[in-house]
Amino acid sequence: MTKRTSRGILDRLKSGIVLGAEGYVFELERRGYIKAGPYVPEVVLDFPEAVKELHREFLRAGCEVMVALTYYAHREKLKDVGRENDLERMNRQAVQLANEVAREGDALVAGNICNTWAYDPHNAAETSKTVRAMYEEQLGWAVEEGIDFVISETNDYLGEALIALEVIKQLKLPAMVTLASVQCDQTRDGYDYVEACKILADHGADIVGLNCDRGPATMLPIVEKVRTAVHCYVAAQPVPYRTSAEHPTFESLEIGNGQRAFPLALEPFLLNRFEMADFARRAQGIGVNYIGVCCGGAPHYVRAMAESLGRTVPASKYSPAMELHPMLGTQVETKDKVFLQDWKS
Ligand SMILES: [Zn+2]
Repeated sequence: MTKRTSRGILDRLKSGIVLGAEGYVFELERRGYIKAGPYVPEVVLDFPEAVKELHREFLRAGCEVMVALTYYAHREKLKDVGRENDLERMNRQAVQLANEVAREGDALVAGNICNTWAYDPHNAAETSKTVRAMYEEQLGWAVEEGIDFVISETNDYLGEALIALEVIKQLKLPAMVTLASVQCDQTRDGYDYVEACKILADHGADIVGLNCDRGPATMLPIVEKVRTAVHCYVAAQPVPYRTSAEHPTFESLEIGNGQRAFPLALEPFLLNRFEMADFARRAQGIGVNYIGVCCGGAPHYVRAMAESLGRTVPASKYSPAMELHPMLGTQVETKDKVFLQDWKS
């Protein structure tokens, strides 16, 4: 494996917060490079420069981890779009692209696996074999291309997450395993989210937590409980949407007449950058170690989060200077407080 940087993920977490950023599939769909529905990252082969550009924008905004765009680049999903034969090429190229941009800064490269839609807890013995084979295949290629650690994410089932963890540990890489949280308080195989994180930690996960589905307001209360339940590092990568007690996930947000906003009409619920900066500070306050953003995430959020953690990043050169605005400059004293609605649930 090529050594890209002197400090690995565990070293960095030991000395402070690591800032991550995801949501590649959502953002590249928005930019016209990925088809909503199947959400397969064909862009990796069809428009590699578009992937590199988004990596680069996140890097400039202060993201420390380039997550290889292999989300849904697995056998089951590629079958859906008739590109099963591109499986290996897509996986290898995704890791190569992440590496190329990571070297432009001092970022780490994470291999990425996710829920497979192949796991069935009622037929765990049989389906586990399929899932394991998919993870081994994807991560085998990723390791050959060079990764620093692995993020296994949006896990609906603890059972499936444990398979991912085993495969990552076989490869002797640090493992970050985060759960989806579509359901009210437990995984689809019936484990309370906090308990599931504890089990993952007990099985050797280096970083556990939640990603996707929930906005900061409804994710942080769960993550806070995870923090007190485990001794390992904790991750929180929410979606930047205004979820609430009534609508705890972005899948449950409604635009009126009971019509759901997910996944293509979520814009009215977007948080602003100040709110995401506030999330980063709150996450820091409760002891979250890996702070990031998921679907809906974009570079301006990441920069605001980085700066709220006291960092100056390459894109800070172009951070707002509203005092220089000809009209708004006189109102600058209101600053971010105006925009910072109370998003607590
Ligand atoms: Zn997401």
